[in-house]
Amino acid sequence: MKKTYKIDVDCANCANKMELAAKATPGVSDCVVNFMTLKMSVEFEPGADRDAVMQDVLKACKRVESDCEIYL
Ligand SMILES: [Zn+2]
Repeated sequence: MKKTYKIDVDCANCANKMELAAKATPGVSDCVVNFMTLKMSVEFEPGADRDAVMQDVLKACKRVESDCEIYL
């Protein structure tokens, strides 16, 4: 199951940090952040609670880049 979210982040470097943080979050099997389009594409593990997982992804991303936002 894949879902795309709109994000806000200031540069490609921070976008990359968000991608790594999301990938490290339990329930996420893969994640791609596109800085040009400001979109985050998340592939969830089977049976994952997407809303709960995305709350964790948002927290993890804020930890690496406090200025970022994910529009859930
Ligand atoms: Zn930055």
